[in-house]
Amino acid sequence: MGNIILTGDRPTGKLHLGHYIGSLQRRVQLQNEGNYDKMFVFMADVQALTDNADNPEKIRQNIIEVALDYLAAGLDPEKCTIFIQSQIPELSELTTYLMNLVTVSRIQRNPTVKTEIKMRNFEANIPLGFFCYPISQAADIALFKSTTVPVGEDQEPMIEVTREVVRRFNQTYGEVLVEPQILLPENTVCRRLPGTDGKEKMSKSLGNCIYLSDSADEVWQKVRSMFTDPDHLRVDDPGKVEGNAVFTYLDAFSTDNDFANYWPDYKNLDELKDHYRRGGLGDMKCKKFLNTIINNMLEPMRQRRKEFEQDIPEIYNILKKGTDKARETAAQTMDEVRKAMRIDYFNDTELIKQQSERFKNQK
Ligand code: ATP
Ligand code: MG
Repeated sequence: MGNIILTGDRPTGKLHLGHYIGSLQRRVQLQNEGNYDKMFVFMADVQALTDNADNPEKIRQNIIEVALDYLAAGLDPEKCTIFIQSQIPELSELTTYLMNLVTVSRIQRNPTVKTEIKMRNFEANIPLGFFCYPISQAADIALFKSTTVPVGEDQEPMIEVTREVVRRFNQTYGEVLVEPQILLPENTVCRRLPGTDGKEKMSKSLGNCIYLSDSADEVWQKVRSMFTDPDHLRVDDPGKVEGNAVFTYLDAFSTDNDFANYWPDYKNLDELKDHYRRGGLGDMKCKKFLNTIINNMLEPMRQRRKEFEQDIPEIYNILKKGTDKARETAAQTMDEVRKAMRIDYFNDTELIKQQSERFKNQK
């Protein structure tokens, strides 16, 4: 069994800094290190439709945005297979069978599902498709026999469900599927980047995002109005760095080199934090520094995105080729799944022979 890396994103909008730091950056690193047998990255449009059923156009429009973000961030279609979830019918097939191995109460207890139901005001009326998306996600992971899933911490309960379902499948039908491992960012603040409003998570649905494709100007507007410490009113006041989004972002993005290059008054982030806590350091100075760091990181992506935008038909071509390739793996696993589940009737010559013997003997 090799090392198979897989992750996806919902094409519900452009990708943001949370996606990048929580998962996408790691995927690009893993891809470039090359220490894997197969790598898949996909657009989870089937999942996106579970809470956007009445707005398919939104999903359709965002496929290309996410594809451009992937390529701009450095995913290389020569090294990793990029595909669109809905174009792999084997995924729906496996989802159907895995649903038999999970109970409703198991999904009801899933903390990510609970939060998302609340966020979408689905409490009174949960679409059944949305409720079942953790199983569809388990199928995504299992179908490709993924061993490694680089994601943010909101995905931890999903990977746990996947591991359980895979275990149940293998116990019931025989060893076919593989239990995946989650790969969380090493830097704990990157596991769940807060929004620019200081809310728990940067999320498209909450409108508190800095997008990878934002212009330098847009980034500055957003950084300038970022949530800090509401009690830090005057420069001389002592400030709090905990729960202060500017400092959380500095935790996530700044390096000692950034201090040497752009703010040599401080050796590192600890020194800056000490000064902020003592008082005498204004928010604006910290925001300007953060703005420089974020824009330095995003500028090469903006440039690459512009280049890729010049040939949009080629991007769809990349997605089509990736999808065709992913289907080959999907078809192989599904053959094994059907065989293990004893539903491979037409391929089983032994079965047909046995049945004809059985009916002959009844005469
Ligand atoms: P939606 O609001 O449509 O659910 P989202 O912004 O939550 O969108 P997803 O497509 O659900 O994004 O997530 C894709 C990947 O990015 C997942 O691996 C998830 O863990 C990671 N991710 C998303 N937001 C963050 C964040 N704020 N911090 C760290 N990782 C994140
Ligand atoms: Mg999400």
